Amino acid sequence: MKLSEIGEFGFISRFSPLFASLVPESFTGIGDDCAIIPQNGKEDLVITTDLLIENIHFLRDSVTPDQLGYKSLAVNLSDIAAMGAAPAGSFLSLAIPADTEVEYLDAFMKSYHAISEQYEVPLLGGDTTRSPGNIAISVCVIGKCPKNTAKLRSTANDEDIVCVTGHLGDSAGGFKVILEKTAMTSETGYLVNRHYMPVPRLPEGRLLASLPGVTAMMDISDGLASDLMQILKASGKSGTVDLDKLPLSEMLEKVSFEQGWDPIELATAGGEDYELLCTVSPSHFKDVSEHFFSTFGKKLYPIGRINKGQPSVQWIREGREIIFVKKGFDHFK
Ligand SMILES: [Mg+2]
Repeated sequence: MKLSEIGEFGFISRFSPLFASLVPESFTGIGDDCAIIPQNGKEDLVITTDLLIENIHFLRDSVTPDQLGYKSLAVNLSDIAAMGAAPAGSFLSLAIPADTEVEYLDAFMKSYHAISEQYEVPLLGGDTTRSPGNIAISVCVIGKCPKNTAKLRSTANDEDIVCVTGHLGDSAGGFKVILEKTAMTSETGYLVNRHYMPVPRLPEGRLLASLPGVTAMMDISDGLASDLMQILKASGKSGTVDLDKLPLSEMLEKVSFEQGWDPIELATAGGEDYELLCTVSPSHFKDVSEHFFSTFGKKLYPIGRINKGQPSVQWIREGREIIFVKKGFDHFK
């Protein structure tokens, strides 16, 4: 059997049960945005790691080394944000072909440093090795949060309101601009920038985790369709999403109109928006969204509901249920 037959999640499900008995009861292991290791009476550690491979996750010709350095750390900080934690340090491992220009690597590291400085995350270690082919970048970030406050995927409740922290589909639109070599305008440039320079929603995550009524949270890395299913599976619930409520940027709407793209498809199946997806109890939603708006000057967008039932998403467009086939990105399929 080939890996491509079972896919990324199929592979993970083959070995994760073997390790379950090694995980102490107080820990949270495989299956959330970060693992959680309790520290003392006051704090928990959260840990995430991610791998970026040239020609799978990025093309060297279409991404600058500074965009790459930024994004390598940003996507990991997004997982820390998804727990509602604060980053404490990063580890960076690089496999690099020997003929790589040192100036390229300097630019990569300068940008990695700039985002480290921006979010006050020290680089604490890592490894470098020669690669026979492509560049490989592995980042691990450790974060901290007050004890038992990390937000999980498995704790959504019936009737909760499904929310997102910002526009969806911009990153997928930017990726399409890159692939289709769409002419550069201020709008297409905005989308490309959203693809290469996603903003980790750290303050948003921390605020949401601190408010009563926020029940589950994760970041949108693989696309809303795929990521919401992760919350539904982990929580044992079904969900409804009103596609007419998905927040779309004016830039995505304009470029989609001009290029004949379906922005709703980009917003649901396209990944790498790195906005946060959370569920909020209906009795707390007003307080949570007001608090969110007064802190950040932007809306927390309600897009759907959690329901009783088998994990599945019911998609509503113009008041009617529609079938949505694209399920986001599975790396081995
Ligand atoms: Mg994540």
